[in-house]
Amino acid sequence: MDVRRMMISTPCPACGERKLLYTAAQIDVPYFGRMVETLLLCAHCGFKHADVVSGRTNEPTRVTFSASGPEAMMVRVVRSTSGTVRIPELGVVIEPGPSSDAYVSNIEGVLNRVAAVVGHLMRDAETDEARQAAVDRLAQIEEAREGRLPFTLIIEDPYGNSAIGHESARVESIPPEEAERLAKGEVTFDVQNLPDPKDALGAN
Ligand SMILES: [Zn+2]
Repeated sequence: MDVRRMMISTPCPACGERKLLYTAAQIDVPYFGRMVETLLLCAHCGFKHADVVSGRTNEPTRVTFSASGPEAMMVRVVRSTSGTVRIPELGVVIEPGPSSDAYVSNIEGVLNRVAAVVGHLMRDAETDEARQAAVDRLAQIEEAREGRLPFTLIIEDPYGNSAIGHESARVESIPPEEAERLAKGEVTFDVQNLPDPKDALGAN
């Protein structure tokens, strides 16, 4: 795997020190292609920001995968900071936010993240109804994780930087007027001095 590391001169957005280490690593996503995972890490305060960039498109894309059976849990999922995750059967919509981090995981990992959020909702519930709704949702997520509840994983990304690595995953472009309505996530720091992650794709 081609990995590049370098110190960059941009001040850390959290502490202002010029101690940012930038790492770009190639990853190969099955049936999708080459992507670059980037990480900014401050050696002074520990600030971290991860993202993923596709080597193949910058167009708004929607990736859809029908998951059924336990084997679907191992399917590779790449969600960039601009990816909106939807699982209609589980009532899940996760939009990018100011602190949203990219991740490279598998479908089980996505369900674990969703379960963690619903777990918080359950603990913070102010009414019995809200608590029960969260309990029911957690039971559904568990069924999905065991492969007993088929569901659809959809990731919409205005920059085409998200992927699901399976031969039956459908990739389609999103019309511009529809892409306009997608949350894009906020860049929390000035990126003008950063190397282009696509340079890490190298000449091969
Ligand atoms: Zn820092």
